[in-house]
Amino acid sequence: MVDASALNRAGFVLPVVAARWALWMFVLANVVVVETLFLADGTGKNGTLTVAKFFGLHAALLLLFQLLLVARVPWLDRRIGMDRLTVWHRWVGFTLLWTVLTHAVLVVLGYARLDDASMTKTFLALAGVTASLLGMLAAAALVVVAVVSTRFLRRRLRYETWHGLHLLVYLALGLAFVHQLLETTTFKSSGFAELYWWTLWLLAFGGLVVGRIVMPVWRNAYHRFQVAAVVPESDDVVSVHVTGRHLDRLPARAGQFFIWRFPGHHHWWLANPFSLSAAPGGQSLRLTAKAVGDTSAGLRHVPVGTRVFMEGPYGAFTSLHRTRPGALLIAGGVGITPVRALLEEESAGDVVVLYRVRTENDAVLVDEVRELVAARGGRLHLLTGRTGEGAQPFEPDGLRALVPDITERDVYVCGPPAMTSAVLKSLRVLNVPGRQVHAEKFSLA
Ligand SMILES: Cc1cc2nc3c(=O)[nH]c(=O)nc-3n(C[C@H](O)[C@H](O)[C@H](O)COP(=O)(O)OP(=O)(O)OC[C@H]3O[C@@H](n4cnc5c(N)ncnc54)[C@H](O)[C@@H]3O)c2cc1C
Repeated sequence: MVDASALNRAGFVLPVVAARWALWMFVLANVVVVETLFLADGTGKNGTLTVAKFFGLHAALLLLFQLLLVARVPWLDRRIGMDRLTVWHRWVGFTLLWTVLTHAVLVVLGYARLDDASMTKTFLALAGVTASLLGMLAAAALVVVAVVSTRFLRRRLRYETWHGLHLLVYLALGLAFVHQLLETTTFKSSGFAELYWWTLWLLAFGGLVVGRIVMPVWRNAYHRFQVAAVVPESDDVVSVHVTGRHLDRLPARAGQFFIWRFPGHHHWWLANPFSLSAAPGGQSLRLTAKAVGDTSAGLRHVPVGTRVFMEGPYGAFTSLHRTRPGALLIAGGVGITPVRALLEEESAGDVVVLYRVRTENDAVLVDEVRELVAARGGRLHLLTGRTGEGAQPFEPDGLRALVPDITERDVYVCGPPAMTSAVLKSLRVLNVPGRQVHAEKFSLA
């Protein structure tokens, strides 16, 4: 996977730590500026409206931070990983919602006190003012997004339905921007405030448009990806080989994933994340998918020559994070895909692979894995059985028996969420340092 010089040695700042610090510093610096602007602007028409303004300014900041988390900035994504960034996006999202609602309630309360009117009458009067109305609509859109993102509804909605509703966040964003622009107490409070907010909004919008639209469109126009072969690996697993122009210039690494669309074959709005199941060597790319729902099952029937639209590469499950010369790669089921790619990148031996499957027949790509392990002088353990039945290889004792020097290795884990969580728990019990543990959960939301 790596030569020794590429390892992150003890004492050096790890890429993930550097990226977290960069993010925290960015947030902190902006919080300081916003606090300063708030204090410099003086109090509002009454105490309640002053506090309302405080919440409003922080809501704007949170909204812009949300954009940064989902802008798919490659530097952040490779270091922190889209899965972790998405979890932060979720928490920032709920914090944003409460901040916006507090701001809205305090504005109505503040004006009700000022005018000595009821809350309902004040609310209706504010709805007649363009700036406030836009703010109310933005808040309503955020409420819808938050409600469909609760675990209860998220589990019950089809991914595409949930994602479609989630796009309302962009409507909220546009409305919030104009709302803030029209509010004289923020944008227009001073020349510096105006410059600061314009810069921040332009950076956030620019980052989002470049990361989510310009880069993918440019990359697809440049590489012109298309299906080169479709190879069934088992009854329910299929590999799709993709070629394109100048693939050697695609900055992808083993262990990463793309979000794939097959517009001529599936509906254009269906996009699914699949890891590369072979190291990207500059000639072709390969995904290997298990049939779970309609899209993954339909990949078996995609004709050769179909144009492919891909977003990526994404993900931090790569050798960028290696700290030790020895590696332990643990895969469960179709979680073998990025593990197989990482193994191909391994240039020296000292690699152990644990591949957990129900039966030997379920072990897709196992011949390739066996060959790669043998070529590197490593060890492969094919572990058959079901979770909860018979020997449990991922209990701490089982792992220690299979890999006695486990604490001396980097450990890469990819498999079903329950298996991955069980392995991560055992690694903690075995005191494997956190910096050596790398997981891909095949789940973004
Ligand atoms: C980073 C990552 C890498 C993955 N790599 C592989 C791989 O190499 N091989 C493999 O077989 N599977 C992989 N998966 C899982 C794969 O994405 C889903 O099994 C697939 O998208 C199911 O789609 P479907 O439409 O066939 O099924 P559906 O029944 O429509 O979806 C099943 C579930 O898959 C998830 N899903 C569907 N679409 C998306 C999407 N666009 N983004 C995020 N989640 C989605 C949702 O949780 C959904 O509920 C990966 C997932 C992630 C997040």
